[in-house]
Amino acid sequence: MTLNEYRKKRRFSATPEPQGKKSALHKSGTSGIFVVQKHAATRLHYDFRLEWNGVLLSWAVPKGPSTDPSVKRLAMQVEDHPLEYANFEGVIPAGEYGGGTVMVWDTGTWDPESPDVNAALKKGDLKFQLHGKKLRGSWVLVRTRGFGSATRTSWLLIKHRDQYARADDITVAKPASALSGRLLAEVARDGGGDVAKAASGDPNGAAKPAARANRTKKARAKRAAR
Ligand code: MN
Repeated sequence: MTLNEYRKKRRFSATPEPQGKKSALHKSGTSGIFVVQKHAATRLHYDFRLEWNGVLLSWAVPKGPSTDPSVKRLAMQVEDHPLEYANFEGVIPAGEYGGGTVMVWDTGTWDPESPDVNAALKKGDLKFQLHGKKLRGSWVLVRTRGFGSATRTSWLLIKHRDQYARADDITVAKPASALSGRLLAEVARDGGGDVAKAASGDPNGAAKPAARANRTKKARAKRAAR
């Protein structure tokens, strides 16, 4: 696990993403950080990252995590990211690798459910607990055959049945940043990015200002009715 591929893909003179320092190895069996970043790049996707051995193991999840145990979400493993990436929320300039808007959609800590994480990763069956602001309880990443390549293996991200399982779509129910409370369009606006493209990743993206006005109208009507 090194950051060579991560660094090779990026020009740090042009992107605000962190270059990554050498960091202390994480002791196995203790909890590490996890982060889910919502990324409006060429296509909208969610990047699911688990701290392990001093880096963030990373998977691109096109549809984002689902808290419904009957739903399996494709997760393509991508290059390890530096730990500092967990706090990155902002705009990667157009034309750079992964150009687009990035939001910290969820963050917290994770614990493996079996002590030997390296063995679980090698086997392609990693069970873990998430202690996030949005995602909680027991999950599994299972490697699959069929899709992917040598460098991008495909996995499935699945929620286990427990008290945190829910049938509704959490990406729609809780669309805002876990760090700043902003929607994707607001992150794009503040960072000088493509606001329209980012807005299309927010629920009811294009209709958002109208929806807001509507809510205000409703609140006003409610007050008036009192
Ligand atoms: Mn990404």
